[in-house]
Amino acid sequence: MAARKDARRIASEATREAVSNRILLIEDSPAMTMLLRQRMEEETGAEVICCDSHAAARACLENEQFTLALTGLNLPDSPRGEILALLGDFGVPTIVFTAMFDPEARERYAQKKIIDYIVKDGPRTVETVLHTVARILSNSAFTILVVDDARSARSGLVEILKRQNFRVLEAHSGTQALEIIEAEDKIELVVTDYHMPDMDGYELTRRIRETRSSEEMRIVGVSSSTDRWLSASFLKAGACDFIYRPFVPEELQCRIDNNIETLKQIQRLRYLADRDYLTGLSNRRCFFEKTRHMEATRTPEHCSSVAILDIDHFKKINDTYGHEAGDRVLKMVADALAETCAPAKHFAARLGGEEFALYLRNTDAFQAHSFCEKVRQQIEELVMEVNNHEIAVTVSIGVVETETGESFDNNLNAADQLLYLAKSSGRNRVYSTLTLPEAMTAANASAVAELF
Ligand SMILES: [Mg+2]
Repeated sequence: MAARKDARRIASEATREAVSNRILLIEDSPAMTMLLRQRMEEETGAEVICCDSHAAARACLENEQFTLALTGLNLPDSPRGEILALLGDFGVPTIVFTAMFDPEARERYAQKKIIDYIVKDGPRTVETVLHTVARILSNSAFTILVVDDARSARSGLVEILKRQNFRVLEAHSGTQALEIIEAEDKIELVVTDYHMPDMDGYELTRRIRETRSSEEMRIVGVSSSTDRWLSASFLKAGACDFIYRPFVPEELQCRIDNNIETLKQIQRLRYLADRDYLTGLSNRRCFFEKTRHMEATRTPEHCSSVAILDIDHFKKINDTYGHEAGDRVLKMVADALAETCAPAKHFAARLGGEEFALYLRNTDAFQAHSFCEKVRQQIEELVMEVNNHEIAVTVSIGVVETETGESFDNNLNAADQLLYLAKSSGRNRVYSTLTLPEAMTAANASAVAELF
């Protein structure tokens, strides 16, 4: 219990408030300064403060805080790279540009603990600088857990990763690592040692993979072992990468960057795969995948409801005003849905054509009916102007409280039947089990009967 509390404390201590990014640009060429400042401000949204000498940089550092510094190596009053010592004294993570690359300089930079160095090699330099700056700034959104029983080895890794602007958590054992992972759901990458007394890195990797896939969490193994089979074992257990000690920090940095880049690409692809391209709402596949999961994990004491919404006379809008106007109507209705929905409670999606669905968590039949009524009214009030014509749209909605033990598809079918009744009873209305007696006309009797 105490260990779990400890894990939570470690997790919460590492929580940082979002701060706006400020970059110190130290460069004596006015043309380069102007170009870099403009591009960095435009592309990263950071505030860029410029100075052209060692003395001016010192004055800035004494008065302000910076997320990172970008500096040329040789300045008029700092001919031998003294600027690096100054930035080091103020503890500002630094990216260096250098006119030429040589192995000796690389060694020197590694000792100065700078983030990265960029060789000025023509037109691509500016792009490389921007890419590096954007990467360092975006690193703050990623959390890495470092697991190692040896304090010095652990702090070495932590220092390299913190310098790269990652949020870093530490665990001194496999057990503590599992507790932190359970307490903190936002860890994207784990760097783990192999030899640890309570559980080795191989076992830790295997245990993490029982609940987290490599699409959610990357694992990088590290070991000073001389066993050359170790990397294969780690990778087979589910690790994404492995590094033998001793390593140069740049190698670790590159491997971490590659894994973070892979995660970003997966996140981006998943976002696009889940999205309805036209409206930006979730798409049909995402709706079914997520709601089936939410329903399967719902306990009987938590109710939920599901609604299907259809735009009235949509074909007529398309036929009269053209498909472009139809698309704008779809987008307008989607925006109204997104605005009315509370992100943690309501989940809206476009099922296809002019049909939308809503999944309402912790919402019973009464609450669901009144929520859908609010949605209906809001859409009724919208007006869109097309070729000097005002188009107003209305929607019909069928909504049911989901029945525990019933398949989600059957619940959705029931909502669909109610939608059919709402349509056949005049449109622009919400039908739920609460309105059934009203719906029970001779014409609808067979459809109502099908609901039971
Ligand atoms: Mg160890």
